[in-house]
Amino acid sequence: MSYSALLNLVCSRCQKKAASGVIQQTCPDCDAPYLCEYDLERVRASWEKHPLVEREKTLWRYHELLPLQSEENRVSLYEPMTGVWPLLGYAKKIGLRHLYVKDEGILPTGSFKARGASVGLSRARELGVRAFAMPTNGNAGSAWAAYAARAQIPALIVLPSDAPRTPRKEMIAYGADVYVVDGTIGDAGRLTQALCKATGVYDVSTLREPYRLEGKKTMGLEIAEQFAGGLPDVIVYPTGGGAGVIGIHRALAQLQAMGRVQGPLPKMVIVQAEGCAPLVRAFEQGEDVSVPVNHPFTSAFGMRVPKALGDFMILKTLRETGGTAIRVSERQIADTRRQLAQDDGFFVCPEGAAAFAGVDVLRASGWLKEKDRVLVVNTGSGLKYTDDAPFDVPQASDVGDFSRFIERVSMRG
Ligand SMILES: *Cc1c(COP(=O)(O)O)cnc(C)c1O
Repeated sequence: MSYSALLNLVCSRCQKKAASGVIQQTCPDCDAPYLCEYDLERVRASWEKHPLVEREKTLWRYHELLPLQSEENRVSLYEPMTGVWPLLGYAKKIGLRHLYVKDEGILPTGSFKARGASVGLSRARELGVRAFAMPTNGNAGSAWAAYAARAQIPALIVLPSDAPRTPRKEMIAYGADVYVVDGTIGDAGRLTQALCKATGVYDVSTLREPYRLEGKKTMGLEIAEQFAGGLPDVIVYPTGGGAGVIGIHRALAQLQAMGRVQGPLPKMVIVQAEGCAPLVRAFEQGEDVSVPVNHPFTSAFGMRVPKALGDFMILKTLRETGGTAIRVSERQIADTRRQLAQDDGFFVCPEGAAAFAGVDVLRASGWLKEKDRVLVVNTGSGLKYTDDAPFDVPQASDVGDFSRFIERVSMRG
């Protein structure tokens, strides 16, 4: 059997099929994202013959359900299966018995964006793409810049002027061409699209090509393996462009169709920041699509997306699974970051903190029950966000003050 069981592409809106063997962006009729369709029976048979447990512990273990036709086209920096473990301190504080995190911060370049970059760029190279461009707030750009260096493909990364500094430095280090727009991520997206149209350069913006999503799908495939005894009741994801949520749910639905997952699928929950919550607003108002936010703001820059191209798919997923959408404040994000670090020794990114803060809100409102099994995705490493992190570092003169420490020790008796 071949490396991939990919059949064709299908438009997520009009359902018209398209060939997968040539370069495609969005559906030419409706400008909606294309999705990949696979021969699931072939995948099932191949997994039976060559069990997953015996395979390499990287996302490429699922190669039949990924679009790459030939293993030699892989662009990989070694993408390990990310760990899942319980957060006992925080769980106890908010009143949950089973709270787990899947920590994507250990992936190359420190976020789950590596999954989309590895699979997306591998497939792009296979199809003969010779250069690409993308808009980004940060993490996608640093991931794609790294994989572009690995593949020796020129990359143009377009950033809004308020993008954070750490990922910018990473992109420069990897040798990408970085262009800063005096505007928002929406402006960066429009500029990228115009440039790609004029030059024929491949546009790898979120959901503007079909294969990044397939990389993100591997989060769901891993979750199914890691929760083989029974999937979590609820999966909580900090959401911007939405490929993470769509990908996880698609993975679980494909496994269900293959008979490898039983029972109802987990309720999908998205969390956004108050300053940029177009999907939460659309969900609350019962809309099928979102309205762009004019002046998006949040310190969790991965979620600073004023309008997701796949908004209708995200909203459908929330409704179909019985999930929900929650907004949290910058204050809640900062407080939760500190709490997780101090209760569990776990330094999450602001996006991850937003997701945990959302869990707190849902537990307090009774939407989550004490016995629910909840999985939160920490989408990136906290270490990428120390520049603007709200943590005061003491001046040298304050460091010698041991009174707080002595007080804490004496309280232990
Ligand atoms: C991109 C990003 C997100 C948002 O993910 P989407 O799939 O675009 O919804 C969340 N957290 C981090 C750290 C990110 O980089």
